[in-house]
Amino acid sequence: MALNETHDPSLESWVESANSPESDFPIQNLPFCIFRHGHAAPRVGVGIGDSILDVPDYPSINALMERGRAAAAELRLKLSRVLRADNPYPPRALLFKQSECTLLMPAHIGDFSDFYASIFHATNVGSMFRPDNPLMPNYKWLPVGYHARASSVIASGEPVRRPCGQIQEGSSPPVFAASRQLDYECELGCFIGRGNELGQPIPIAEAEQHIFGVCLLNDWSARDLQRWEYQPLGPFLAKSFATTISPWIVTMDALEPFRAPRFERPAGDPAPLVHLDCAADRERGGIALHIEVWFSTARMREEKIAPVRLSRARFEQMYWTLAQMVAHHASNGCNLRPGDLLGSGTISGPAKDERGCLLELTWRGTEPLSLPTGESRKFLEDGDEVILRGFAEREGARRIGLGECRGIIAPANKP
Ligand code: CA
Repeated sequence: MALNETHDPSLESWVESANSPESDFPIQNLPFCIFRHGHAAPRVGVGIGDSILDVPDYPSINALMERGRAAAAELRLKLSRVLRADNPYPPRALLFKQSECTLLMPAHIGDFSDFYASIFHATNVGSMFRPDNPLMPNYKWLPVGYHARASSVIASGEPVRRPCGQIQEGSSPPVFAASRQLDYECELGCFIGRGNELGQPIPIAEAEQHIFGVCLLNDWSARDLQRWEYQPLGPFLAKSFATTISPWIVTMDALEPFRAPRFERPAGDPAPLVHLDCAADRERGGIALHIEVWFSTARMREEKIAPVRLSRARFEQMYWTLAQMVAHHASNGCNLRPGDLLGSGTISGPAKDERGCLLELTWRGTEPLSLPTGESRKFLEDGDEVILRGFAEREGARRIGLGECRGIIAPANKP
C-alpha cells in the first residue's frame, strides 16, 4: 500500500460539511460504520462530514474484512470518486445525516484480545504494586496480552453499569459489593481483516495485510475487583462487564499518510526476536495518532460546563506495534478471524498529562483530580461520562479523526 489519489489533501467533497478543516471525516478518511435510519434494516455506511453515505456493495463490514486489504482499497477508491466535488451525478438519495441515524456495533466480533503495549503504562502500574520491579521479565520480549470478552463489547453511547464483585481489603475477608474503584482505559482497537488458517502463523512482514482498521476502545476496569482476582491467571470479571468502542472503523489505508517509525527502544533493551521484527515494521510500524480522554460529571452537564480534557497521548509511543501484536497472537498457530478485535492496552506517555487511565492519573487515588465544579475524583462515580477522541495530522496531509467513544456510568444493581 502506498499513497494514492484518495489521500490527495486538495480533494473536496460535494458533502459540504466534509470540507470543514475541523471535520474528523473529510473525503480522505472514509471510515466505515453500521447505521440504521428510521425503521430500515442496518446498513453499511461510510462517514463523510456530518453525514453517512449508504454503501450497498457489502451486506456487512465483516464481509468486506474477509476479502482482504485489496478489496478494501478498491472500495475506498470507488467511494472517494463517488464523493468528490467534481462528481457530476452525486447520489444524494444515499446520503443520511448522522444526527438522524443510530450507529450500531461496526462488526460482529468473534474474539477479543487485549494487550498491554505501552511501556509507560506498564511501568506506572507495575511500580504501584511492585515498586522494586515494575516490569515483569517478559515485557520487552513479547507483547503481553490476554483473552478478553467479546460478548460485552458495546457501541459508543450505551450506558455502562457499575459492576459488583468480590472486594478484599486489609486483613478482612472479601465482600461482594459494587466496585468503588471503577476506571477507564484509553486504548486503540484493531480489527482483523483477512484471517489465517488454524496452525498457520502470520509472518510479521504480512501482518498488516491482516489488519482492516482501527477504532477507539475504552476498556472499563474495576481496580478493586482486579486486585483480588488477577493472580495467577490475569484479569477476569474486573474487565468483562463492558468494553466500549467507537462506531467508526478507520481503515489502514486512511492512516497511510500518518505511518511513523516504530518506537525506538532505549539503549540496553533487547531487540525483538526475529518473528517479531522486520524492516517495514521498524520503518513504519507506528501510527502518528493523538488519543485524548475527555470527562464530565452529571453536575458539570447540569451546569452546562463543557467536558474537560484529562489526557492526550501519542500512539507512536507504544512499545509494541499492531503488526507485532498480530504476529505474536498467531505465532503459535492460533487462527484470527475477520472482525476479531485486538485492544492495544492503555495508551500512556511519559508525562503526567499523557496517562490514559485514572489509576495512573490519580496515582491509585492518592492525587485526586480537581474539576471546574469543585468536585474531585479518585475513580469514576455514577453519572460520570468518559469521551475518547483521536486524530492524526501531519504537514502535507489532510487531518483525519476517529470520531468519539462515549460511555456514562449507571448505578450498580443491588449486590
Ligand atoms: Ca486494557
